[in-house]
Amino acid sequence: MTGKASEQAIREKLHRAASSIRKAGKAGKEVARIDWKDWERVRNSASNKTGWKAKEVDIWAIKEIELGQMIVNNTTTGEQHWLMDEKEREAKKAAAGSGPKADRAAMMRKVKRWIGKRKRGKWITAAMYRDVRDNLRTREKDGTRGSVKAVEAAIVMLLAEGDMMLEYRNRQEGKWMKGAMVWAMEQGWVSGIQAAAFMAGATDKVRYREGREMICLELGSGWRGANEGLTTTGDWDRVVDVDMKQQNLGKKLGMAKPDILARFLMPGQEGKGMVEYFRERSGAKPGEIAAIWASTNCDWASQATRLGVSRGIVMGPNSGGEVPEEEDRTIRGLIEGLQAARAEDPRVQYTWENTDGSLKDHEAMLEHMGESIKVRSCAYGRKSGKAYRIWLSPEARKYFDPILPADPDSMCEDCKAGRRQHQQGYCPQKGSKQKRISEEGQIGEAARQRVPKKLAQHLSKAMRAGWEEVNERLNGERT
Ligand SMILES: [Zn+2]
Repeated sequence: MTGKASEQAIREKLHRAASSIRKAGKAGKEVARIDWKDWERVRNSASNKTGWKAKEVDIWAIKEIELGQMIVNNTTTGEQHWLMDEKEREAKKAAAGSGPKADRAAMMRKVKRWIGKRKRGKWITAAMYRDVRDNLRTREKDGTRGSVKAVEAAIVMLLAEGDMMLEYRNRQEGKWMKGAMVWAMEQGWVSGIQAAAFMAGATDKVRYREGREMICLELGSGWRGANEGLTTTGDWDRVVDVDMKQQNLGKKLGMAKPDILARFLMPGQEGKGMVEYFRERSGAKPGEIAAIWASTNCDWASQATRLGVSRGIVMGPNSGGEVPEEEDRTIRGLIEGLQAARAEDPRVQYTWENTDGSLKDHEAMLEHMGESIKVRSCAYGRKSGKAYRIWLSPEARKYFDPILPADPDSMCEDCKAGRRQHQQGYCPQKGSKQKRISEEGQIGEAARQRVPKKLAQHLSKAMRAGWEEVNERLNGERT
């Protein structure tokens, strides 16, 4: 059908079709000049006559145009624009279908979407980079599309094209970029020249941080109240935060953007390997995790008590009933994780923070975690009487002096004045609560759940002092 005779037949057909329309016949004998608006009609007629598919007529016509045998006037966008339209459609089809270009487009869309949600300002942290790589790899079972190299190649191309920066901890490991582009060439994603251009563009957007760092690992960063404290004392070069959810903090603060989106006890993972796992995933080097902040939300007994009270059943402080299995696993896993981290590096300090409730009565807490401290958030500037329960590593504990609500340096004017009720206490009036929330620019839950910044700052300083103490002791032993 695509032989010489058929082409001749089509050309004749097109000439006839062209001559039947207004602008026909103005060009040379061999050239069919057709208006775009008539093209559909001409093509259908040609297709009927020759038995070609419409698509085959298009392909043939593109060749004719390229040979100068045919001109299609596009009255709105200029001559032969149709040719470009057709080429664009081809490209789009390729992207939506299968083959290397489609794989590349699909992976770039996926990575772009992920990065859009996660990056802080312009930056993709070393921890986030590993997070995207590991997450997108494991989501795809198909070897090629979801391979590490595919994710890496997409990141290189997005870096080269986009307005963003990637931070990396180890120049040696940075060789992945070249490996990813070589892979992209082998897959037919890019040509050699394109690969070189992407490499050059992306290299410009990478910053290496090679020195040693003091890192605070924040497990369960949730509403980011503690994070606000931990990142503002200057005790840590960085805080790497982990949470399974990105919380909506409200208009002013936007979405929480943890470095690593994960549960802090991974399924099937022993508590013992917890800190090591997140250290590696964050790109930190051995010995760089200096402190751990853990926020849990274990409060089964108070819930049981509330239920009991509403049913008229009187319950004692220790009669919270059975610990739900998942909370029990979290508690035991976290204890194991903290102990293992200190066994590995005795300088590691920790803070474990939980709403004041039944956690302090858990048998594993009593056995392994020692004395706990109760603090009220109003003493640290929150307009609420919410109480927290804190467990600290032994050295950090020495440097933490809790502020009581009635103390002179407390931030609670009500408690200092001896007033029994806070103006905005446990259950603020709707009006006052809304006022408070709009002042802070946070949604209600964020305002309620955030750990006071000042409390986190004090605990951060205590952990740093504890770390220094052990570090000095170990240095003394060594010399
Ligand atoms: Zn108070």
